[in-house]
Amino acid sequence: MSEPLDSEADGLPIVYAPRGFAAADTQHPRQRAPKAAEVTASRIVDDILKGSVRVGDKLPTEPEMLERYEVSRESLREALRLLEIQGIVDIKRGPGGGPFVAPLNSGYLARTSSLYFHLSGATYSELLDTWAALEPTLAERAAKLPASRTKREMFTPFLAYDTESHVELELFDDFNNFHSLIAALSGNRVLTLVTQAVTHIVAEQVLQSVDPVAEREMLSHSHADVAQAILDGRPSKARKLMTEHILEVTRTYLERDPSAGERRIDWRL
Ligand SMILES: [Zn+2]
Repeated sequence: MSEPLDSEADGLPIVYAPRGFAAADTQHPRQRAPKAAEVTASRIVDDILKGSVRVGDKLPTEPEMLERYEVSRESLREALRLLEIQGIVDIKRGPGGGPFVAPLNSGYLARTSSLYFHLSGATYSELLDTWAALEPTLAERAAKLPASRTKREMFTPFLAYDTESHVELELFDDFNNFHSLIAALSGNRVLTLVTQAVTHIVAEQVLQSVDPVAEREMLSHSHADVAQAILDGRPSKARKLMTEHILEVTRTYLERDPSAGERRIDWRL
C-alpha cells in the first residue's frame, strides 16, 4: 500500500464537492438519491442517538430490523457493513454474535483519513506539521481549564513518571495516552476527534520508529513539564512547551530516518 501512484510526490487531485458526492462528476452534476442501505444506516444511527440501543448493546435481530426499517435483507446487511467500516457497529461472529453498538473510536476516523492522506500524496512532513499545529493549541486549552480534582488526577502521574518501572509497550502506551488525555480535555468535540485521529496516525506510523526506551528520558521530561504548566494553569507556557516537545520528537524521528519526511503517508486498516 505504500507504492507511489506515478512518482513519490504525486497523488490524486483533491476535489471539494459541496453539493454532494456526485457533484464532483461534471457529466452528471445533480446530487444522487441516497441508496436504501445509506438511508437504513442513517436510521440505525438515529436509533442509537435516541438511546433505544446503547454502547455495548446488541442491535435488534435481523427479522426485527427488517420489519422496522422496511428494506431488503441485502440493503440491511449493506447498511450494517457501512456502519462496521466506520467503526460504529461491531459485528461479532459466531454463537451469541451479531451487530453491537461500538463506542466512538477516533482510530476509525484516523483510518479513513489515512486513506485520503495516502491517495492525495501527502507526506509525513505534512502530517507532523499538522500535529505541530494542533497539539500546542490543545495544551493551551487544557491549561486554561479551572483547577479540579479530575485534572489533578489526570496529570499528576506524568509529573514524576518512573520510566525504569515500565516495559517498552507500557512506555509507548503511556506516552501516547498523555496526548489523547490533553485532546479529550479540549472542550470541543470536533477538535478532540480530529486531533486524536491525527495523533493516532502519528503514533502508529511515525512514533513506532522512535524507540520509547532510548528516548524515555526526553519524552517523560517534556511530558512532565507540559503537565506541570497545565496543572499550574499557565496556558502560554503549556503552548510553548508543547511546541518544543513536538519539534523535538519530530527532529528525533527525522534524525533516525532522514528520508521519512518526504515519504507518502501510508493507508493503514
Ligand atoms: Zn509526547
